[in-house]
Amino acid sequence: MLGTIVNFTVSGVPEEQALVAIRAAAEEMTRIEALFTIYGELDNSVKQFNQSKPGVPVSLPQEVDALLLQSKRIRQQTHGAFDAGLGSLNLLWGFSQEPAPVAPPQAAQINMLLGHGAKEIRRISDKWVRDSAQARLDFGGIAKGYAIDRAMEVLKQHGIAHAIVDAGGDMRVIGNHGGKPWKIGIRHPRKTGAIGYLPVQGDQSIVTSGDYERFFEFEGKRYHHILDPQTGYPASRCMSVTVLAGDATTADAWSTALFVLGPGEGLKLVEATPGVEALWVTNVGSVVLSSGMRSMYKISPQ
Ligand code: ADP
Ligand code: MG
Repeated sequence: MLGTIVNFTVSGVPEEQALVAIRAAAEEMTRIEALFTIYGELDNSVKQFNQSKPGVPVSLPQEVDALLLQSKRIRQQTHGAFDAGLGSLNLLWGFSQEPAPVAPPQAAQINMLLGHGAKEIRRISDKWVRDSAQARLDFGGIAKGYAIDRAMEVLKQHGIAHAIVDAGGDMRVIGNHGGKPWKIGIRHPRKTGAIGYLPVQGDQSIVTSGDYERFFEFEGKRYHHILDPQTGYPASRCMSVTVLAGDATTADAWSTALFVLGPGEGLKLVEATPGVEALWVTNVGSVVLSSGMRSMYKISPQ
């Protein structure tokens, strides 16, 4: 689901109850994916919005409306680094399409799309309008987190108190592991294995954005799927960012934003934002931690 493998870990209930809960949670994630994706054959309101006539307000389902409002808020909080209106640019680069791209698009085509993003997607009373045909929604930087949150909600509704919903390394964790914190490894962006781990319990989310997830090399240079809205090119300030937050929606969007901002501007922003902690692996492979992250982070016993 969601372009990745989703793993559910549930403990503290009989296997039969766990299986029923996991099936329901997986179904919920499938529903969310269908609701938000701009890829594939299935039609949905997001695709319809992306085809809508500029200047003509369109109503969106309540959940899409809510996630779009949240996306706009995070865009403002992150000084434009997280932009859920980069659909045209993402489609141009083609990282989420088949066949996977092998070369960057023409600079002229990229430049034509600069400045066309979520700021051109506005809410007018209860509807949404786009100001230009180039402004297209793409929830790729946040929908996976929302799907994880929804899945965890379904597990909770089924009486589950100890669980991990892990969508390809992006996860939400509740409860604990036999009375001890769950140990969540943070992957090294270039090598196999972890650079460290976080002991977490209660209800916390850990999401990583990395340049190693979807990328190609062209003329000796790496091009990956997280784009800097300012340049239209893959952001180049780090190799990965891991974010810790109370819910996976927030962690997902912030990991994308903090990847774009890098450890300079990003660190200042995180220190000024309660409820968000981050760890960067910089361009040169060094690790930068926010203060709250530093107090939790443990280096792997290699
Ligand atoms: P992944 O979901 O692959 O783990 P991210 O959460 O960082 O990684 O999301 C990357 C996806 O988000 C891209 O594939 C694209 O759809 C979208 N995206 C790319 N750049 C941005 C950006 N600056 N802001 C918001 N979404 C983005
Ligand atoms: Mg993200």
